[in-house]
Amino acid sequence: MGDLSKIETVVNWLQSSKKTVVLTGAGMSTESGVPDFRSASGWWTKTDPQQVATVDALESNYPLFHEFYSMRIQLLDKCSPHKGHYILADWEKRGILHHIATQNVDGFHSKAGSRKVDELHGSIYTFRCHSCGRDASKEAFLAKERCAHCQGCLRPNVVLFGEMLPENAWRSALSNIQSADVVIVIGTSLEVYPVNQLPMMTKGKKVYINKEAASHASYFDCILEGKAKEVIMELDDRLIG
Ligand code: NAD
Repeated sequence: MGDLSKIETVVNWLQSSKKTVVLTGAGMSTESGVPDFRSASGWWTKTDPQQVATVDALESNYPLFHEFYSMRIQLLDKCSPHKGHYILADWEKRGILHHIATQNVDGFHSKAGSRKVDELHGSIYTFRCHSCGRDASKEAFLAKERCAHCQGCLRPNVVLFGEMLPENAWRSALSNIQSADVVIVIGTSLEVYPVNQLPMMTKGKKVYINKEAASHASYFDCILEGKAKEVIMELDDRLIG
C-alpha cells in the first residue's frame, strides 16, 4: 500500500467507525517543542528516565529529581499545543473521535479543547506533598520549599516509574479501547508498561502513526510513518463531515 492509499484506507475506517479512540505518547508533542524520551534526539540520550523519574530518585536524590522536573516545567511554560492537537479536538466536536488516552503530562489535548481525555501518567501542572499527599503550589515546588504541614518533599502529580497509574484514568482508557472500532496510536515507542498493553486490548482496527514505526510493523493493521502533526493534517484534509 502506498502512503496515499493508506491514508485513504484509514479515512474510510474513521468514517465508518462508531467509536474511535486515540492513544498518544511523547511524539505527539515533539512538534510543540517538547522533547520525547527515547527517540534519537530525545532527552534520555543524556539522562536515563529510569534514574530520575522514579520514587527512588525523589526519596534519595531530591536535588536531581527537583532539577529535572523544574527544567521540564519551565520548558513546558514556553510550549503550546500544535495544529495536530487542535484537529483532534475538532474531530471530537464533529463526532469523528470519541476518546483520547495519553501518556503525556503536558495537558496539551485539554488545552487544545479535547474534553474526553484520560491522563494515564498524570499532570505536571499540579503538585502535592510526597509524604502527606496535601496539595501544594507550583511556586512552592519551584522554590524548593518543603510541605507546610509535614516538611515532606513536594512533587508534581505525575506517575513516576514504579508507581501505580491513576485507577479511574486506566479503567476509562481500557474500556474505551476495548469497545473501539478504531484505535489510533500516535507518537509512542510503546515501551512503557502497562500503557503499551492497551492497543492489544481492542478488537477494532489498529493504526500506528509514528516517525520510527518499523519495530511495530507486524502488529498494526495500518502504519502511517511520519510526523504526528503532518499525518493528522493529511487525514483531516480527506475527512468529510
Ligand atoms: P517515547 O519517547 O518512549 O517515544 C516517543 C515516540 O514518538 C518514539 O517512537 C519517536 O520515534 C516518536 N516520535 C517522536 N517525535 C514524533 C513526531 N513528531 N511524530 C511522530 N512520532 C514521533 O515516549 P512515550 O512512548 O510516550 O513514553 C512514555 C513516557 O514518556 C511516559 O512516561 C510519558 O509520561 C513521558 N513523556 C511525556 C512527555 C510529554 O508530556 N510531552 C514528554 C516526554 C516524555
